[in-house]
Amino acid sequence: MTDEKPLGFSTRAVHAGQEPDPATGAIMTPVYLTSTYVQPAPGKHKGFDYARTAHPTRLALERNLAALEGGKFGLCFASGMAATSTVVQTLSSGDHVVCGNDVYGGTYRVFTKVFRRFGLSFSFVNVCDLKAVEAAITPSTKLVWIETPTNPLLQIVDIAAVCALVKTKGVKVAVDNTFATPYLQQPLSLGADLVVHSTTKYLGGHSDVVGGAVVTGDAALHESLKFLQNAVGAVPGPLDCFLVLRGTKTLALRMERHCDNARRVAEHLARHPEVAKVHYPGLPSHRGRDIARRQMRDFGGMISFELKADVYRALRMASSCKVFSLAESLGGVESLIGHPASMTHGSIPREERLKAGLTDGLIRLSVGIEDADDLIADLDQAIASSK
Ligand SMILES: *Cc1c(COP(=O)(O)O)cnc(C)c1O
Repeated sequence: MTDEKPLGFSTRAVHAGQEPDPATGAIMTPVYLTSTYVQPAPGKHKGFDYARTAHPTRLALERNLAALEGGKFGLCFASGMAATSTVVQTLSSGDHVVCGNDVYGGTYRVFTKVFRRFGLSFSFVNVCDLKAVEAAITPSTKLVWIETPTNPLLQIVDIAAVCALVKTKGVKVAVDNTFATPYLQQPLSLGADLVVHSTTKYLGGHSDVVGGAVVTGDAALHESLKFLQNAVGAVPGPLDCFLVLRGTKTLALRMERHCDNARRVAEHLARHPEVAKVHYPGLPSHRGRDIARRQMRDFGGMISFELKADVYRALRMASSCKVFSLAESLGGVESLIGHPASMTHGSIPREERLKAGLTDGLIRLSVGIEDADDLIADLDQAIASSK
């Protein structure tokens, strides 16, 4: 049956990696609360010997995420940062990484404050500019780290173009696909070597779990990451894996609503007389719109914008919403509003932030799955009351 049609995304989301429990027939993957497994004879086991090394609930999630990203191998971690750190731990002292200058604040922090101390070097460049990427590559460069859409400015990086550029130089490409999710964008099919996730966000989808994952199609890379997963040990617990596995089942449905709501909110803000600038890849004015149309199924649920007037107004506005909650994080069913300069991106020095275009007045929205009319009315009242 070689010409069998591959299963669609939603079917894989519901079924991949999951089989009825062989012991009981339970249709949902059990939460195996165990740290070890009984061996019939020394060194003989059913694929599970110790739960840091291998765990059945985790394995189901790893297979599910690999299937969603179109990769062969998935590995889960205790957080997105643990996943990111494990990827960097495949490198050695002296190696160089080229990283986008508009990435998650915690990524910037772990690269500069932790891994630099171990002799790795990092260059932060605008990865939307292929010439800047090319200029930053040195003979020691081993990895290019991309986030797209970027956080919090929602710029679009051309994944296929970056991969084509660096592939000939033996440089690997990792894409943090947290903002887009595999429903909207599959970096491995565009030439990336690794996909990294904070499953805390859209994959979990309900703001009730912290987790991370790495997916690859490269067996050698997978082996070294799997070795590190066990050797370093930043593994997720079984209940956390269960929650993410529950989340991915509705990923496609949720993302469709996130995208529809975000499009309506972005269009509304773009027309609002008090709003100076809206960053949303689905707006006709967005510079990366054509690339986004090519590499994404839709434009996602994240928006950032600036009000006319001062920073203090932005702070007042962010505190005045009633449906949007003022909080870090993103990707849950509920809408969140944040002020990157003082919240998610506070760990990036101000001059670095400004260089990347992240102004003190920027507000970020994670648009949830509520009714779009309520979200728009809430933003309008918050803008009006912040005057
Ligand atoms: C949240 C986030 C991370 C870090 O993930 P944690 O699960 O919080 O450790 C990394 N990248 C992006 C894009 C994120 O939004």
